[in-house]
Amino acid sequence: MLIDTHCHLDYADFDAERDEIVTRAHQAGVKQLVTISTEVRKLDRLLAITEKYPSVFCSVGTHPNHAGEELDIQAEDLIRLANAHEKVVAIGEAGLDYFYDTQTPADQKTGFIRHIEAARATKLPLVIHSRSADEDMIEILTTESGKGAFPFILHCFSAGPDLARVGVELGGYISFSGILTFPKSQDIRDLAKTVPMDRLLVETDAPFLAPKRWRGKRNEPSYVVNTAEVLAEVHDVSYAEIARITTDNAFRCFTKMPRL
Ligand SMILES: [Zn+2]
Ligand SMILES: [Zn+2]
Repeated sequence: MLIDTHCHLDYADFDAERDEIVTRAHQAGVKQLVTISTEVRKLDRLLAITEKYPSVFCSVGTHPNHAGEELDIQAEDLIRLANAHEKVVAIGEAGLDYFYDTQTPADQKTGFIRHIEAARATKLPLVIHSRSADEDMIEILTTESGKGAFPFILHCFSAGPDLARVGVELGGYISFSGILTFPKSQDIRDLAKTVPMDRLLVETDAPFLAPKRWRGKRNEPSYVVNTAEVLAEVHDVSYAEIARITTDNAFRCFTKMPRL
């Protein structure tokens, strides 16, 4: 079995066939899914999806590309929402995205630090989005961890080795997406090899970034199988072994998510 630790099932891309997508995931052995929040204002929609599908859990948070739109949301709000709902098992996704600079770095940092506070208080894993921001991410993670540890995941990892190393040193998990399978991603595969087995997670980030076997198609949770296959090759273990390891890691990381 596998767990897709990061997808966006609420996106309109899936409206026409959400039932089928969840069924296909289960048939592919992807037994549990975490659909990730990008706007706290839209949490109700995510919660409705998690209520409909017992195997789907969610997070609560503001994506850095929306940071400036949700600066009214404080750490206390995130904590309250996470505690109020059984199916909210993580905080985020939050972080820094300097690739799409629609939001100022200052707003992104403000929002990110509030999410860190919420993760520290709830002990729920913080799903971190970091793109083209390695230096600032390393600085914030190091400083904030110094104030008090918090669990976190560097999701859809495609950053440099320094961020991966710091993430592992600070106790974080590194989650790999379809990017790991792309022919041009040899550097990411080399890096994945250096990540300790007990910190590896897999995800789709669907509907984005379909792995190699379905390149160019809309991504969906069942496709996480291809990423796990490549991760198994990289670590020179069997598919069954990588499935067991990443699933155990997911349950160790998402402490609030029951094993169904
Ligand atoms: Zn992201
Ligand atoms: Zn995402």
